[in-house]
Order: sequence, then C-alpha cells, then structure tokens
Amino acid sequence: MHESNTPPRRVAVIGGGITGLAAAHRLVELAPSVQVTLFEASDRLGGVLRTERRDGFLVETAADNFITTVPWAIDLCRRIGFEDQLIPTNSGYRHAFVVRRGKLHHIPDGFVVMAPSKVWPIVTTPILSPLGKLRMAGELLMPRRRQAGDESLAAFIRRRFGRETYERLVQPLVGGIYTGDPSRLSLQSTMPRFAEMEQQHGSLIRAMYKQPKRKEQGSGARYSMFVAPRDGMSSLVSAIAARLPAESIRLNTPIRQLQRTERGWSLSLLNSPERAAEFDEVIVTTPAKPTSRLIATMDEELAGELDEIHHARCSIVSLAYTRDQIAHPLDGFGVVVPAIERRRILSASFSSVKYPGRAPEGSVLIRVFIGGDCQPDLADRSDEELLQIAHEELQQLLGIRGEPTMQFISWRAKMPQYFVGHTEKVSRMRSLLERHQGLELAGNAHDGVGIPNCIHSGEQAAERLMLTAAREAPQTNPV
Ligand SMILES: Cc1cc2nc3c(=O)[nH]c(=O)nc-3n(C[C@H](O)[C@H](O)[C@H](O)COP(=O)(O)OP(=O)(O)OC[C@H]3O[C@@H](n4cnc5c(N)ncnc54)[C@H](O)[C@@H]3O)c2cc1C
Repeated sequence: MHESNTPPRRVAVIGGGITGLAAAHRLVELAPSVQVTLFEASDRLGGVLRTERRDGFLVETAADNFITTVPWAIDLCRRIGFEDQLIPTNSGYRHAFVVRRGKLHHIPDGFVVMAPSKVWPIVTTPILSPLGKLRMAGELLMPRRRQAGDESLAAFIRRRFGRETYERLVQPLVGGIYTGDPSRLSLQSTMPRFAEMEQQHGSLIRAMYKQPKRKEQGSGARYSMFVAPRDGMSSLVSAIAARLPAESIRLNTPIRQLQRTERGWSLSLLNSPERAAEFDEVIVTTPAKPTSRLIATMDEELAGELDEIHHARCSIVSLAYTRDQIAHPLDGFGVVVPAIERRRILSASFSSVKYPGRAPEGSVLIRVFIGGDCQPDLADRSDEELLQIAHEELQQLLGIRGEPTMQFISWRAKMPQYFVGHTEKVSRMRSLLERHQGLELAGNAHDGVGIPNCIHSGEQAAERLMLTAAREAPQTNPV
C-alpha cells in the first residue's frame, strides 16, 4: 500500500515485447507501489515472440529458444516460477550440418561458431580442402592484431584462419545467427570473446584448447546450453504478463510521440479517447526505428543515432512432412548454407528434432530462413514464392518426396545489425540520453539481440530508474 500523501510514481513502459515485459516486471518486483503502465501498439504481447498451433504442430514465428550461459532469461524464469516449464534440446543429436557442393556434412565436432577446439574432426572433415585445413592450422602462428578498435567479423576470421574457413564455416554460422553479412558486423559488439582470446592467448586455437573440456559432443551452436518453453515462447510471455497488475497493460495503444514536461513526460496516444497521458518516468523498449520516431522532436541527435541502425529482413517458412517423405536421417538440429553455395535459403532448423512436442508422431517440422543481408531481395518475395523456394530447396538438400503436409509463413522478421563501430554508437547514445532525466531506452538495438540480453536491458532500465528515484527521494520530512 502507498502510505504517504504523495501520489504514487507513474512509470510508462512503451512496447510489449520481451524487453518491455521484463522492464515492467522488474519495476513491479522492485517497487510494488509504483504505478506501471505498459503501452503496446498491437493487440497482443510478446512482440516478435509468438507461438502458433496448427494441426498438432507447435510453430515459433521468431525465436524458438534461448541460451542459459548468460543468466538473465533463466533467472527471470526462476523468479516467476517458470523454470519447470523449460526443456533442454534433444540430447541425441546436438550438432548441425553445413552444405558443401549441394550435400549436407556435419560441422566438425568441437567447432563452435568461430573456432575449432578439436584436431581430429578438422583433419577428417570434407568441408575444407587440405589447403584450407593447413591455413586454419596456421592460425597458431598468426600475430596478434596491433591496432586498437573494432573490425568486422569477416576481416577477423580471414586474418586468423584464412578465406576458406570463413566462407565454408564461419560465414554460414554467423549468417544463421544474425541473418547478417559478417563483412559489416562488428566483432566487438557481436563476439567480443573471440577478440579477447586473440589478445590474451595470441591464438584462438590455443585459447579453445585451454578452456575446460566439456564431455558433450557437438558443433555449431552450443546446443546443450539452450532451453525452450515446453509450450512455446508465448507461454513465457503469458507467464511474465500474469505477474503484472491486469490494469497495467494497454494493448492496441501505439504511442506517437514523447515530450518532456515540467514535471515529467507526456505521451501522445493514438487509438485512445485520451490524447495524451502524463508520467514521471518512461522506459522506451520499441525497436530502433520506432524509438527514433518517438523521440525525434525532443532529441534529433539521439533519434538520428537510432535511425541509422540497420535491420536485416528475413522470412521464415515452416514446413511439415511425414517422416517417410524425407530420405535424410535428420540426425542433427539443422543446416546452414554458405553464401558461396548460391542457394536460396540461409538455413533450416529441424524444429521437431531439436525439441519434443513440436510435431505429431510420425511428422517432422522444419523452419526455413530466407533472405538476410546477404540476399535481401529474397525476404520480400510473395507468399507463394517463399513457400516454393523453401520446399524446393529442402527437396534437393534432404531428398524430400511429395508436398508438405502443413505450411506456415512468418513474414519479414527484422533483426538489428551491429555494424563495425556499434560499441561507440551505444556509448554516444548513452551520453546523449543523460540529457533526459527520467527517460530510459532498452531493447535489442543496444547490447545484444538475444532474449537474455533483451531481458537484461529491460531490467537494467527499470533498476536505473528506481535507483535514481531513491537518490532523489527526500531524506527527511519537509516541515
Ligand atoms: C526471426 C528471429 C529469430 C530469433 N531467434 C532467436 C533465438 O532463437 N533466441 C534468442 O535468444 N533470440 C532470438 N531472436 C532475437 C529476439 O527474439 C529478439 O531480439 C527479441 O525478442 C526482441 O524483443 P524486444 O521486446 O526488444 O522487441 P520486439 O519483440 O520487437 O517488441 C517491440 C514491441 O514494441 C511494440 N511497438 C512498436 N512501436 C510501438 C509504439 N509506437 N507504441 C507502442 N508499442 C510499440 C511492437 O508492437 C512490439 O510488440 C530472434 C529474432 C528474430 C527476428
């Protein structure tokens, strides 16, 4: 209960994706007396996270899991009593494939996104030529980079391991994670760990060997570290929303503009009988472009920084087949496709192999990613074309007979791209934001696109507001 005579503090959270939900939840958790209002433009919460159920299939329209080695998502799940809803990846098939000359090959065991940790799988892999393997081993002799500052992922890998490792392994793996073009992506903002390894150990191979060995076999992503909600991402969204006061959530209420007032902040509302609402503080969690528009009239410079952040477009086609339609054993979680293979898909995830409960008995669910920054025009094709591309590519790669038994398209997902120099951009945005007391920005445009990072970003924004308020609260009663 609010005990003093002063009215409760009002905080607005704009955007009802996972970042906004995490921010609102943290505010309620830290200060139950604060009046939180979460404004969401659409008619549902979750933002890009959405689970669809079709004919017995569970289809994720964007993210299908999250990593647990960065703690923030798993911590939140524990705090809201959701941990028992999380399931690990299927332990039988924790590896992935890469295409070479139209055929699927296992990504060498121990090759984790950018670097190898085992010798024999590299020696025996058919993915690299003997020269490519020699050049990879030459990484041990490559000098450390002397210049300070950022470089692209592609430049870093070509410099350390050579062109072939980049084109055949790293480009498709990184392209699969960020739907991006590694020749523009920032090493510092996406994979800083590998830059540190080079500086500390002089070689990535040496650094990987010094890491404690895990028993598990695997390659590509570190699959044992991922979990998914048993009933899909939407169940996590609902579980967080259920912890917020019902009256705090306002769907179908896009915010048009944000303005500073004498006492706080004024939000102009669209689709609402009230034209404006006043708040003491605001957390904006919308993607970079909408955030830029929201603040454009009050801070052109900050809005400009946000507007510059590029987003890669990608379409996801989910296709289902009966198991006996597919010749390939599907003994892995999916396949990534190098750009030099000149195919029309980025990757395919074998959803029903990765997690149980994604397809009825005897059926298989596959999610195909099309577009991304290396093939941007493909993402915008019509539904019919996308379905055809996805099916034809799977037919050729996996040996599929007949037509899909179920198909579903999630259109034009957008993923922010952290280009070279992104860390400096984030620092500039932070210092510009200091001019606006009581305003916080959070979300996937800043310090990581993964769900745990988005949750952390929302929670930190809430914590900063609460901390500032505690510092400013009168220490003695005014007479
Ligand atoms: C295809 C795809 C696959 C992914 N896979 C994974 C994965 O497997 N694992 C992982 O960890 N991460 C993954 N990610 C990344 C992760 O899912 C996203 O970065 C994260 O969910 C973004 O959450 P958000 O709340 O910041 O933004 P969003 O989900 O975009 O939410 C923003 C919300 O703001 C609302 N909004 C916009 N404008 C306004 C306005 N003016 N007023 C009010 N509301 C507004 C929107 O309607 C939306 O609901 C994936 C992303 C994509 C696109």
